[in-house]
Amino acid sequence: MPKYVTILGATGTIGLNTLDVISRHAEQFRVFALTAHSRVDELAALCLKFKPRFAVMLDETAAEKLHLRLQGTDTTVLSGLAALEDVSAHAEVDIVMAAIVGAAGLKPAMAAAHAGKRILLANKETLVMAGSLFMHAVEQGGATLLPIDSEHNAIFQVMPPQRLAHLEDGGVRRILLTASGGPFRKASNAELLAVTPAQALNHPNWVMGPKITIDSATLMNKGLEVIEAHWLFNAPAEKIEVVVHPQSVIHSMVEYVDGSVLAQMGNPDMRTPIAYGLGYPQRLDGGVAALDLFKVARLDFELPDTARFPCLRLAFDALKQGGTAPAILNAANEVAVDAFLNGNIGFLDIPRLIESVLGSMKIEPVNSLEQLVAVDELARATATEWRQLEAC
Ligand code: NAD
Ligand code: MG
Repeated sequence: MPKYVTILGATGTIGLNTLDVISRHAEQFRVFALTAHSRVDELAALCLKFKPRFAVMLDETAAEKLHLRLQGTDTTVLSGLAALEDVSAHAEVDIVMAAIVGAAGLKPAMAAAHAGKRILLANKETLVMAGSLFMHAVEQGGATLLPIDSEHNAIFQVMPPQRLAHLEDGGVRRILLTASGGPFRKASNAELLAVTPAQALNHPNWVMGPKITIDSATLMNKGLEVIEAHWLFNAPAEKIEVVVHPQSVIHSMVEYVDGSVLAQMGNPDMRTPIAYGLGYPQRLDGGVAALDLFKVARLDFELPDTARFPCLRLAFDALKQGGTAPAILNAANEVAVDAFLNGNIGFLDIPRLIESVLGSMKIEPVNSLEQLVAVDELARATATEWRQLEAC
């Protein structure tokens, strides 16, 4: 029986890689729904190729255009957030690839969790914003959560198979979360001050969407991943160590009390974790080239420098503070990255803006999704105000 897959964020880097893996195993998977924000041409082309039952565009005008483009096909076009939730929770869906970027991915991912789907989670912002609520929904809904972020997928592969109440129960001493260090690993503070969006968009090892590429350059991506690892593996901040590993061949490691360190390695190609998630517990060929160790030749490791990359420290602090702090961090970061990409603030203003927003908002215990959505909105408004004041 083929499995039916909904791909949230189908036109993005992860979405397209997922379709690439699926197309190599057409007998095992059917595309149930494809979704995108507003890119009509891209989604229309994907619908004609993969023939989903539903296509969803967040934007209503874009959906109308898509509808005209898909007339005469068997694909029904829908629009809006509720439709994203519907195609994530639909009874006929087996697997949901959550690959929308940013906080916008939270509600559809939650819908998939409540409906007990197999969730392939690329959208780390869901866990950063609402980790406790999301993990609870996964448990209550009977969903299967498989991390797609390469580091977390690596950790998942080398962790004891059962979810641990405490890492010690599985003999785990630490999680070693690797980071490439991004394009500015060796840059001085003066050089960081002058970084342009074009330079920051040029990641040395990975091809990714613009937001995560900037996050990788500031090391906020690693900070978000620390929070993601906390929720996925029940790991306190002190047990997560960030290791800069410029080759991006080891995707992360788990250290055990007997001194064993288990690593998952491979080429930096997201089709490896995606194929893992789609095929689990079987292994699928995702079209990834074999790792050539002789070409890699060496593996280097360095400590991260939180003085030059304060975003990593800010994320650790937000995790330790808990409550709504990570949601505020995430929202302020989304505004800051957007402002940087639009040329409104400098590269080093990104951590300044986030720190200022975190310092000006009250941190509260998390009690509901509505509360987190309101906190997210307030943090965005505060961040936008900061940016406008700075521009004066
Ligand atoms: P991307 O920018 O390439 O694609 C984003 C997708 O989300 C697009 O299909 C877009 O249409 C959709 N989208 C954007 N805003 C939306 C909104 N408001 N509502 C509904 N849909 C919206 O991003 P990406 O690189 O594919 O990353 C997607 C997610 O996966 C991010 O959370 C990222 O952190 C995570 N991730 C990506 C990679 C990678 O290698 N690209 C690796 C690990 C994790
Ligand atoms: Mg990652």
